[in-house]
Amino acid sequence: MSKKIASIRGMNDILPEQTPLWQWLEARVRAVLGAYGYQEIRTPILEQTDLFKRSIGEVTDIVEKEMYTFEDRNGDSLTLRPEGTASCVRAAEEHGLLYNQSRRLWYQGPMFRHERPQAGRYRQFHQIGVETFGMQGPDIDAEVILLTARLWKELGLADQVTLELNSLGDSDDRARYREALVAYLKEHQAGLDEDSRKRLERSPLRVLDSKDAGTREVLENAPRLADYLNDEARAHFQSLRELLDRAGIEYVINPYLVRGLDYYGKTVFEWTTRALGAQGTVCAGGRYDGLVEQLGGKPTPAVGFAMGIERLILLIEQRNPELPAPLALYITAMGDVQAHALALAERLRDALPGVGIQCHCGGGSFKSQMKKADRSGARFALILGEDEVAAGTVTVKPLREQSEQVQLANDEAGPWLASRLAG
Ligand code: ATP
Ligand code: MG
Repeated sequence: MSKKIASIRGMNDILPEQTPLWQWLEARVRAVLGAYGYQEIRTPILEQTDLFKRSIGEVTDIVEKEMYTFEDRNGDSLTLRPEGTASCVRAAEEHGLLYNQSRRLWYQGPMFRHERPQAGRYRQFHQIGVETFGMQGPDIDAEVILLTARLWKELGLADQVTLELNSLGDSDDRARYREALVAYLKEHQAGLDEDSRKRLERSPLRVLDSKDAGTREVLENAPRLADYLNDEARAHFQSLRELLDRAGIEYVINPYLVRGLDYYGKTVFEWTTRALGAQGTVCAGGRYDGLVEQLGGKPTPAVGFAMGIERLILLIEQRNPELPAPLALYITAMGDVQAHALALAERLRDALPGVGIQCHCGGGSFKSQMKKADRSGARFALILGEDEVAAGTVTVKPLREQSEQVQLANDEAGPWLASRLAG
């Protein structure tokens, strides 16, 4: 036998037992996005490497360490997308979607980052994200946050997540703040962990993100970004807070909240949970008014977020949710009745749209067929043998409840099952 080939580390198969939960989640998210009038956009998984370098920023973990970049056969440098925003902006610009109009878009799909795999952190993972363009007031910031809050309700996660908010001001504010922060941190270098000392040189704002206890202690007396905001950014943040208060959305201001992508300014937010250990952020986003221009378009205000689907799935699994059984009916076929069984299944699929019906294939004893019917999760087994075919009937045996099996004429089966399945 030849050696088996395994999957790539950090890249997971989503198995048939797991896909119902994924589909359930995706359907709920899709419904909420539809309820807000957001339009789906689908972009390729591969993009030119420069797209990510120019948007996410050269001095970020993603671009420096995490991208899957390779040369294709033409010698072009291509990258598997590590996130969705850059592609969305590229596509919107390329197709004139932003010309004199606002847009509310969403996307979903796999993203790729070469990180150290662990629970809630993978090398291929999935995001659903939202990007809005052309709206500069805090009302759209509030809308995308309201949308996420509704999502948590729909997914049964509302009591598991907390909204954290901060404002990053504009790039001048951050430059002035960066200077003050670096000066302060240099004075207190001895108290910083090694990672933070490295970040201090290259991207000092990321030090704010450190989980190291010593560094966090140093940060307690560090200058606050909030004190460096210009008036407009301050007013924007204040209005957003008022809109969220009026909408009854609870949040905590986290002055240390920064994002690992360079394009964010003004509003940033994260939804976090305590239930997933270190991988506690399930949704992250904010405003990125400079990005469209940075990628060659006209200045265009923009707000968006992305959520990590694997982390949401982990959270939902902790609750052991009851999902509807995929199959309702299992048709067994004993003897020379295969053609009749297939025809019965087709008739029932006409009569019972949306009901999962599986027809036994491959023969076998009555006992083994009934075992399969039971294992399938179906509510009823429909037993078809030569006697039933001769009599023009089918025997219906309830598999999940204590009631007797019944024999139904062929044309009664559809209506009878319809009323039982509705109940
Ligand atoms: P983290 O701080 O956890 O590394 P991030 O700031 O890199 O997250 P974003 O780039 O903002 O994350 O992505 C948005 C969301 O996507 C995250 O909040 C998380 O839920 C999810 N996510 C990011 N990286 C991964 C990964 N490697 N595996 C699984 N989910 C991820
Ligand atoms: Mg990360």
